[in-house]
This record gives sequence, C-alpha cells and structure tokens, in this order.
Amino acid sequence: MLTLGGCDPEPARPAAPVADEVLAQARARMVREQILARGVADPRVLEAMGRVPRHEFVPEGQRGEAYEDWPLPIGYGQTISQPYIVAFMTAALEPKPGDRVLEVGTGSGYQAAVLAGLVAEVYTIEIVEPLARRAEGDLRRLGYGNVKVRAGDGHRGWPEAAPFDAIIVTCAPEDVPRALVEQLRPGGRMIIPVGSQWGAQELYLLRRTATGMRRQAVLPVRFVPMVGGR
Ligand code: SAH
Repeated sequence: MLTLGGCDPEPARPAAPVADEVLAQARARMVREQILARGVADPRVLEAMGRVPRHEFVPEGQRGEAYEDWPLPIGYGQTISQPYIVAFMTAALEPKPGDRVLEVGTGSGYQAAVLAGLVAEVYTIEIVEPLARRAEGDLRRLGYGNVKVRAGDGHRGWPEAAPFDAIIVTCAPEDVPRALVEQLRPGGRMIIPVGSQWGAQELYLLRRTATGMRRQAVLPVRFVPMVGGR
C-alpha cells in the first residue's frame, strides 16, 4: 500500500513534490502491472491512464489508495471503478481523436477525464446531483474543458448532442436502454454492464451496424445499479 508522508521533520525536503513524485510512480506502476499486464495494449489508452491524476478524483482520505487495484468509495453509496476496468472499457470504445462520446454515470468524473484526453468531446450524465456538481467542479479545476456534465437520468441519453460515436455506461441496467441505442451513430460502439443488482452482470460491447446491432459479451463484472428510468 502506498503511504503519503505525514509531517516531515526536515525542512529541506518539502512534502508536496515528494508526494507528487510518489504518486507519479504509483500511476506508472498501475499502468504496467494492472493494465498492460492484463492485456490492454492500446498505446493511447495506456498514455491517458498514465497521465490523468486519479488521486484528484478520490476522497482526500483515500488518496494513498488511488493507484491500487480496486474500486474506492466516492460518497452517496457510489464508487470509482477499478483502474483496470476503466482502461478495459475505454479501449473497448476504440476512441478516436475526433469522436464525441456519451458517458452515463459520471461518479467522480475520472472516467470522463480519461476519455477527455482521447476524444474531441465528452458528455457525461450523473443522476446524483451533488456528485454531478462535484465532478463538474473537479473537471473544470483540472482543466478538462471538453467535458460537459449534466445532472439527470441517463436512461434518456443526451438527445440534443446525439448521435454519438461511442457510449460508455458505468452503472448496470437490467436491459440496454432504448434511447442510448438510438443515440449511437451507425458504426458507433457502446460498452455497458447489463444484469441485476444481485445476480450476474456481464459487460457487453455493442456495435451499431447499417442494419441493426451486434452484441458481444466481453467480461463478467460488478457495477452499481442504474437507477431511475421508470
Ligand atoms: N464512471 C464513474 C464511476 C461511476 S459509479 C467514475 O469514473 O468515477 C456509477 C455512477 O452511476 C454512480 O455515480 C451513480 O449515481 C450513477 N448512476 C446510477 N444510475 C444512473 C442513471 N440512471 N443516470 C445517470 N447516472 C446514474
């Protein structure tokens, strides 16, 4: 486990730069050992995961665990996903520099920040209003100017900004919401966990073709439920 220095008795060694360096090393190790070692090899995704300061998106008391191999609580009963899952889902979207991407489930804003460095525009929706506001503030403070945050129910998507080149859903509905399928452009990709809160969930990769949808199960997962929608 990574521990950040408490009080340093030596005034010649200021704490903040040391901590930054330790965090950067922990981030590089996370990319190598948790992501690359498990088969996510897209160099742009690895670079983005190595650049975004994940510790800025977790509660202050949890910063020492920001680069560890597990999800972390972010308040309101929600979590920031395990780094590997963020990388896996991001790579599955095949993000391109000109893409416009919709995310459902902003949470901490971390996934949106990772995408922001890979595509042109990110639209992200969060149903818990204080989480949406906090993520919006953090993303602005950290300079992610190409992310738009909305508080609301992601079941409806973001019709005014549709169609999207890619859609990522980071909470689990029992079925793929119809509006999201309709807001994906032909050739577009969607990555979404589907299943019940208590039973199995499976991560699906959907691809919109000229005539319909292709759907492929890619990984068993465990996400918080997608609420609302009725
Ligand atoms: N992507 C986030 C992790 C998200 S956790 C990150 O990088 O930190 C899943 C989030 O989905 C939670 O914050 C939860 O409040 C939100 N959520 C659940 N149902 C939703 C819905 N119908 N619309 C939008 N967000 C929803």
